[in-house]
Amino acid sequence: MIDQLDFEKFVRYSKKNIKKPSDYNRLIAHTDNFFLISGYGAFNIGYFLLIPKKLYSSFGEIEIKCSEEINYWITLISKFYNEKLEKDIFLFEHGLCGCLGGLDRAHLHLSPANKNLSQSTIINVVNQIFKRRGVGLKKITYNNVTIDNRYDIELMINKEFNYTIAEGKFLDSKEIIKKTKIKFPIGLNKYSSAFKPYNFFYHHKGSFLKDLDVSTQLGREIAYNLNKFSKYESIKTENDDSVWKWQIKKFNSNIIKSIKLFKKYLLEQNIKDKKYNIITS
Ligand SMILES: [Zn+2]
Repeated sequence: MIDQLDFEKFVRYSKKNIKKPSDYNRLIAHTDNFFLISGYGAFNIGYFLLIPKKLYSSFGEIEIKCSEEINYWITLISKFYNEKLEKDIFLFEHGLCGCLGGLDRAHLHLSPANKNLSQSTIINVVNQIFKRRGVGLKKITYNNVTIDNRYDIELMINKEFNYTIAEGKFLDSKEIIKKTKIKFPIGLNKYSSAFKPYNFFYHHKGSFLKDLDVSTQLGREIAYNLNKFSKYESIKTENDDSVWKWQIKKFNSNIIKSIKLFKKYLLEQNIKDKKYNIITS
């Protein structure tokens, strides 16, 4: 299986000034245990992925001793969003959903979010996405056939087939979105009984951490729609429907701008004085 987030390859191919983004030339900077890249599918400037250098399959497996280093990165990026982009931070992890298409390698998504988001907007956006994906439905029947595959259930809903629910019910996002501090799911050993694949997102107005059975790139779909509507109406489908899938649109110029802006910001910070030695590519 291809490791799409192999640190050594990013070091080899990321040059000072890149003209066109490609698989391994988007490295921005790194510390002892983590590195930061500009992510494919950058529907806004400042979309980053934070990745551990060691191979873990989700952030939940990372040792607790790394939590300070993770928080250092999050605080730094959050300051960058606030000072340079006038945005808040929105963090999310898909957790073993195969969103990269290759090897499952832990990566945390960091995205700028509009300043004026309220908790009710977040709940509304997520609810519509849950409905579209059939989150909470375990089995449906159509023409006397029982369907339990996540992607097939989603397809039946999108095509508006006349199905009936055989098991489960639509999950209301109000039940799981709470206003909390960042409570990272790190330090759970994959082989311990406490470890479960999960979906996680955090915004200071609302966050969740839950083992949802859900199809790929949920966090990206939420981030895309949160940024699109400052005052939320309804999600338009068709043309818009899959722009949040990174495979559909990479947004090359935003990727380049994200790299340049954040590197410039790091230089301004005089990062050598800081606790973690950040090396820019
Ligand atoms: Zn992901």
